[in-house]
Amino acid sequence: MSDAPDLEFAFEAHGSPVPASEREAILANPGFGKVFTDHMAMVRYSADRGWHDAKITPYGPIQMDPATAVLHYAQEIFEGMKAYRLPDGGTALFRPDANARRFNDSARRMAMAELPEGLFLESVRQLVRADKDWIPAIEGGSLYLRPFMFASEVFLGVKPASEYLYLVIASPAGGYFKGGASSISVWASQDYTRAAPGGTGAAKCGGNYAASLIAQAEAIREGCDQVVFLDAAQRSYVEELGGMNLFFVFDDGSMTTPPLGGTILPGITRDSILTLARDAGVSVREEPYTLDQWHADAQSGRLRETFACGTAAVVTPVGTVKGEGFEFGIGNRGPGLLTEQLRTQLVGIQRGEAPDPHGWIERL
Ligand SMILES: *Cc1c(COP(=O)(O)O)cnc(C)c1O
Repeated sequence: MSDAPDLEFAFEAHGSPVPASEREAILANPGFGKVFTDHMAMVRYSADRGWHDAKITPYGPIQMDPATAVLHYAQEIFEGMKAYRLPDGGTALFRPDANARRFNDSARRMAMAELPEGLFLESVRQLVRADKDWIPAIEGGSLYLRPFMFASEVFLGVKPASEYLYLVIASPAGGYFKGGASSISVWASQDYTRAAPGGTGAAKCGGNYAASLIAQAEAIREGCDQVVFLDAAQRSYVEELGGMNLFFVFDDGSMTTPPLGGTILPGITRDSILTLARDAGVSVREEPYTLDQWHADAQSGRLRETFACGTAAVVTPVGTVKGEGFEFGIGNRGPGLLTEQLRTQLVGIQRGEAPDPHGWIERL
């Protein structure tokens, strides 16, 4: 697909944007996903007109008919990516082309209209340009971008919709970790699974999250930070967390991650970590790994580190694993050496503080 936008974005400037002093106060401690910038991007699709009405418009509520299809059948997909402030004051995106491709992979699985990659990229670029003053200058700060699309057709019949609304909203985000990552604990759910073969596990759709919330609530009840899902068929292989992929580091310096096969979300952070580790000469495998083996390897000391990765939290060490009737720690329950090395390297590239040998940074 061509990179050129098929449509021009109209620009409707916000009449009363958040005053600079108020914005600066928010940006000093933005948290995550609570505050949104002055504008949003929006493009409409209908089967007869195709993509049309592209615009950057003031952020605000969207009116919906109660019979809008997404409210009933959950035909919805999304992306998660970040814009960073560069040391020279410029602005950059990290691998936005990968998000554009994955968005369409998700659209196909959910029988939704595909969005030309150029239109996806242009929507994100234009929104970031309009609201670049919302990128926090604090350490670890970024502008979290949430492109999403849903079935906007007003119809209760069960079928792929013929109308969609695509939007991008942006939210300033603080650093998850200030100087070194603290580790998390995970709960291995025996009762609930996230994705079955043939299901929607590889699509970034809201429905996957809806189905995971009960397991996440169980994890919290059990005193853990996150749920770790096992494969649906055998309840034996470790797949991923609710929204992050997993890596395991061994005493021989090698590393493994569960293979993509339709039930795991193909994380762009996962792919970047695989690439950086291979660049560094680490022997990396993509192969199935059971919960029992994880337990045994942690206890024997063969397993040195485990970490989770994703756009929001980048790289997060896993210190403790709990499940029905067992608990084990990993290493000294803190961040391991390779975990720290890969996190530092990735963050350095994203923020324009380290060389970018793979051309992952797009300067705006
Ligand atoms: C988004 C997501 C990830 C991480 O993907 P990134 O592209 O690295 O942010 C992992 N697992 C699930 C279920 C996700 O939705």
